Amino acid sequence: MRIPFIAGNWKMHKTVREAVETATALKTVVAAVEIVDIVLCPPFTALGDVGRAIAGSNLELGAQDMHWEPQGAYTGEISGPMLWELGCTYVILGHSERRHHFHETDDEVARKVQAAFAQELLPILCVGETLEERDAGRTEDVIERQVRAAVAELDAVALPRLVVAYEPVWAIGTGRSATGGEANRVSALIRQWLGQAVGGPSADETRVLYGGSVTPENIAEFIGQPEIDGALVGGASLNSEAFAAIVLAAAGGP
Ligand code: PEP
Repeated sequence: MRIPFIAGNWKMHKTVREAVETATALKTVVAAVEIVDIVLCPPFTALGDVGRAIAGSNLELGAQDMHWEPQGAYTGEISGPMLWELGCTYVILGHSERRHHFHETDDEVARKVQAAFAQELLPILCVGETLEERDAGRTEDVIERQVRAAVAELDAVALPRLVVAYEPVWAIGTGRSATGGEANRVSALIRQWLGQAVGGPSADETRVLYGGSVTPENIAEFIGQPEIDGALVGGASLNSEAFAAIVLAAAGGP
């Protein structure tokens, strides 16, 4: 059984104080939720304090990116061991904002995925097509390329621990989400490509999330799909009440 998974990506939002306040408020509201993996991904600056604020709760900590080298002369970068030291369990990799604003390549994302596993951090690998690619009928080609490149060096043991987020770029932060049916179709393809690339049935255990303008109002459309195991949430995760409503919906109530 794949356990539902809801992650909040706070991007470059919130001071340390604001991050701790939001995490603390959320912690209380979702304290009784048992069957959802709930992950907060604050900015690097707030990881330590948010980690302390949620220690002992059912919330887990994730980072928004990392470098593939464990250390070195990479000014401004953060490594896997540094995230691990702060208590991170997960790390978002290949987010479209990293791919587009910072020109991250498939090869770099693949190196980060391997480095994360080497550090016992679990990647939340983001894939998705732009509007231009979608309009050109290239959605499947683009996502297949991104998926296969990212897992090229992984073995079947890693796949159940990998989380993939299907995030159409045109749906991120736009208020325009994919339909549940379309996201479900692409999620099934992602699992198929994972299985083909790595071999064996272990992709059946990989959690595939939908991301792109998820809200308390539309989460049911996605979580109700057989191939979708949860959501990566940006804007709506900044507000503890909205994010809690998404988590509670994923848990099957209220
Ligand atoms: C994201 O940044 O991963 C995301 C899905 O953002 P939003 O929910 O705001 O569309």
